[in-house]
Amino acid sequence: MTTELSSTTLDDLLDRARKDYEALAGRGLSLDLTRGKPAPAQLDLSDDLLSLPGGRRSAADGTDVRNYGGLQGLAELREIFSGVLQVPVAQLLAAGNSSLELMHDCLVHALLSRVPGADSRWVDQERIAFLCPVPGYDRHFALCERFGIDMIPVPMTGSGPDMDVVERLVAEDASVKGIWCVPKYSNPDGTCYSDETVARLAAMGTAAPDFRVFWDNAYAAHHLTDEQVEIADLLAACEAAGNPDRVFVFGSTSKITLAGAGVAFFGASAANVQWLLGNNAKRSIGPDKVNQLRHVLFLRDADGVRAHMERQRALLQPKFEAVQRILEAELGGTGLATWTHPKGGYFVSLEVADGCAKEVVRRAAGAGIVLTPAGATHPYGDDPRDALIRIAPSYPTLEELEQAILGLTACVRLVGYEQRST
Ligand code: PLP
Repeated sequence: MTTELSSTTLDDLLDRARKDYEALAGRGLSLDLTRGKPAPAQLDLSDDLLSLPGGRRSAADGTDVRNYGGLQGLAELREIFSGVLQVPVAQLLAAGNSSLELMHDCLVHALLSRVPGADSRWVDQERIAFLCPVPGYDRHFALCERFGIDMIPVPMTGSGPDMDVVERLVAEDASVKGIWCVPKYSNPDGTCYSDETVARLAAMGTAAPDFRVFWDNAYAAHHLTDEQVEIADLLAACEAAGNPDRVFVFGSTSKITLAGAGVAFFGASAANVQWLLGNNAKRSIGPDKVNQLRHVLFLRDADGVRAHMERQRALLQPKFEAVQRILEAELGGTGLATWTHPKGGYFVSLEVADGCAKEVVRRAAGAGIVLTPAGATHPYGDDPRDALIRIAPSYPTLEELEQAILGLTACVRLVGYEQRST
C-alpha cells in the first residue's frame, strides 16, 4: 500500500477523520452489514412461490408429491439445475432447503460410515484435517470446529487456492481428507477458480485415498455484470483424471428464490450418490417434494433460472456499484485500504492495514454500523494479519447501504491515520 498523503499533513487528516467519526457516531445509526442475506425486495421476486403448486399434486412421472418417498428428489427439478451445477441429472440429488445442512451431513456420514475409497471411518482415524482457503466462509470453518476437524489455512490467489501449497499438503499428509472450495464468486473475495486450478484439483495425487473436495457452488448463477463467468466442470475433470469419487458438489436456490424455503442440491459420482442416499435413508423418508414442485412450476427451466437471476441482478448491482463508488471516493489514493471488485456473488472484501481490522469493526459498531466480526474469514476466527473485513451489501436498502459504507470509510480513515500517527 502506498502512503501518499498529498500536501495535507497527517495531523490534518487525523483531525478530519476524528470529526467525521464524531459526527457519524452522533447520528444514532442502526445499520447491519453482517450477513449475506437477500433483501426483502429480492424475496418479493419469488412471491409466486407462495401460491404454488396451486392445487397440483403430481410430479411429471405421476409421483404424488404430498406423500413420503423419492429420496433423490424430483427429476424435473434436477433437470433444471443439472447444467447450472455441472452435474448429470442421474447424479444430482435435490434435498431440503439448505446446502449447509448437506455439507454438515456429509461430514457426519464420512465420520460415521466409510466414504467410497476409505479404509476406515474418519472418526476412527487419529487426526482429520481439511484445507481451508483463506479468506473463506465462516460456516465451513464452524463445521470443522464442531467435529474436531483440524483446519489448515491455504492462501487464495486470483485464480483459486494456491495450488502449489494444496498439492504439497495433500501429497504428504494422509490425514488431510478434504478442502473447502467456493469456486465461483467466492465468499468473501469474489474469486473464480481458473481452468488450471480445477484441472489440478482433479488430477493431484493425494496421500488419503478418501480425499474429498467440498465444492460449494453457492453462487453458480449469481452474476453481477454482463460477463457471466463460467468455471470448468470439476466432476467431469475428476472422472477424466481417474479420480471419479473425489468431489462432492453442493448448491442451493437459497439466493435464487427464498433463502429460508429454497431447495438444496448434492452432486457427485454414482458411488458417492449411493453412499449419501443410503445414509439419508436412515434420517428421512423423503424430502419436501411439494416445495420442489413449486420450484419447477415457478422456474420452469434453465432459461427461467437465468431470467430470474437477471431480476436479482437488477436489484443487487446498484448496491455493489454504490460500494465501489463510495470506497473509491473516500479511500481511493489514501493507501489505507484495498478492496475486491467482484463480478458476482454476495460480498466485497476490504483489506485495511495490518492490525487495523478489529479496531475498524469496533469503531463502526460504536457508530451503530454492525459488520461481520474481523477474523471471521479465517479458521478459528483468527486473521493473523488482522486486516480483512467482509462487506455484505445485499440486505440494507440502497440508502442505508450508502450510509453504512460512508460510515465504514470514516472508521477506516480514523483507525488508519491513528495507526500512522503512533
Ligand atoms: N455456502 C456459501 C459459500 C454461502 O455463502 C452460503 C450462505 O451465505 C451458504 C453456503 C448457505 O447455503 P444454504 O442456504 O443453501 O444452506
